[in-house]
Amino acid sequence: MKPLSSLPDATVLADPDVLEAFRRDESHVAGCMPLAVVRPHGPAALRGLVRLARAEGFGLVPRGAGTGKAGGCVPTSRTVVVDLSEWPGAIQVSPQDLCLTAPVSAPLREVKAKAAASGLFYPPDPNSWESCALGGTLATNAGGPNACKYGMTRNWVLGLDVLLADGEVHTFGIRSVKANAGPNLAQLFVGSEGIFGLILGATLRLTPQPREHATLLLPVKRWTDLLDLPGRLAEAGFLPSAFEFFDPAVLAELRAHGPEEARRLPGEALAILEFDERGCASDAFLEALADLLGPVAESLEIASGARQREGIWAVRRLTSAFLKERHPKKVSEDIVVPRSQLRLFFERLEATGIPAVSYGHLGDGNLHVNLLAAGDTPPDELEAQLMTLFRLAVDLGGTLSGEHGIGLAKRDAFLALSDPAHIEVLRGLKRTLDPDGIFNPGKVI
Ligand SMILES: Cc1cc2nc3c(=O)[nH]c(=O)nc-3n(C[C@H](O)[C@H](O)[C@H](O)COP(=O)(O)OP(=O)(O)OC[C@H]3O[C@@H](n4cnc5c(N)ncnc54)[C@H](O)[C@@H]3O)c2cc1C
Repeated sequence: MKPLSSLPDATVLADPDVLEAFRRDESHVAGCMPLAVVRPHGPAALRGLVRLARAEGFGLVPRGAGTGKAGGCVPTSRTVVVDLSEWPGAIQVSPQDLCLTAPVSAPLREVKAKAAASGLFYPPDPNSWESCALGGTLATNAGGPNACKYGMTRNWVLGLDVLLADGEVHTFGIRSVKANAGPNLAQLFVGSEGIFGLILGATLRLTPQPREHATLLLPVKRWTDLLDLPGRLAEAGFLPSAFEFFDPAVLAELRAHGPEEARRLPGEALAILEFDERGCASDAFLEALADLLGPVAESLEIASGARQREGIWAVRRLTSAFLKERHPKKVSEDIVVPRSQLRLFFERLEATGIPAVSYGHLGDGNLHVNLLAAGDTPPDELEAQLMTLFRLAVDLGGTLSGEHGIGLAKRDAFLALSDPAHIEVLRGLKRTLDPDGIFNPGKVI
């Protein structure tokens, strides 16, 4: 695109073969061909981009690493992709303030590693943490296994630097959790999926690294026995740092076609439980836990060292990619129901007859319900199946997305299932922050 070639301090990509790769993320939706892809290297590039977007009438689609599962970073019509992978800056840890600052281009794995090198912990751990960018995790308010104890990304955000529609970068928040001078605007941008502005840097809260872990592999004889466990653990005062599961169908796929380490996984269904509080590896703790789990467990395997723990987690982390390789056109959702409604949810899901398989974050009711045959299902039928699934979650007091966000993929369902007042407030914020509709047009609302 011609006017972009004069943009200062940026790499501009315009080769159609290169642009093609930016039409997709890890969701099932494909976007339009972008007008260009711009990698800004400083404020002058951002200023120029906003000015050109307004003058030429194109939108700006922020992109991190493109691992999103809601079509949030795929281009809509007449848009330029703003790829933030080259945004400059270094990760700096402040042990005294128990925080770090980082540019959005930082890979999440490096953010976590830098914190760990100072004996500190940055908990957010989407299963894509080896490949996603910090910016994407902020913009989607990413979750992951640890969210069941540590909460979502937003719990760890103290401040953000954000490009607003005036073309300037503004800072919201301070280096402390105590910040009550008016409503917290940094939090408004967390999970906003790029529709209010572009996040460029963050100040993130840290906590001391857990020193002990107890990681358990819990195969069950009857899969439905798993469904009451998250609530029963909570009732009994246990707070796992992760509680993941595979239903019988996913477990069978892994056993039949997965990598070597998956082939010997026991049980009709399987859970991975992890605890990380002080004393969790003690005999007393494990015995109390075994009393609770024993009646439903086929066996109970406790990882005896870092290597075995890593082996258990490796199988969980590869599950999404493994299923996608076997079923490239599958649709993967991330609905949520309250822990107390898990059993009822699965009973009702079965009654719908929708051919779905599930795995994911059972501990906080965030379920990756997958429609493996989506590619062979007529589009109208698929849409009806997805709406039935979303309604099921909403009717039980849950929501249609626990962590991936709305993006392009779930926009229609989000609009249909939300309280109109909710949508009106969001649209009002959008009009105020982005009156010309420059940022990520056509997404979420
Ligand atoms: C194998 C696999 C496992 C996954 N597991 C999880 C999981 O456990 N939990 C979870 O939450 N997610 C998970 N995801 C989804 C995804 O990885 C996360 O949402 C991740 O946070 C996206 O980061 P990204 O850098 O790839 O963002 P992108 O895909 O590039 O972008 C995601 C969204 O954020 C916006 N955006 C990106 N950067 C910025 C910015 N700087 N400013 C404003 N907006 C921006 C984009 O426009 C888009 O709307 C998984 C994905 C895969 C492929």
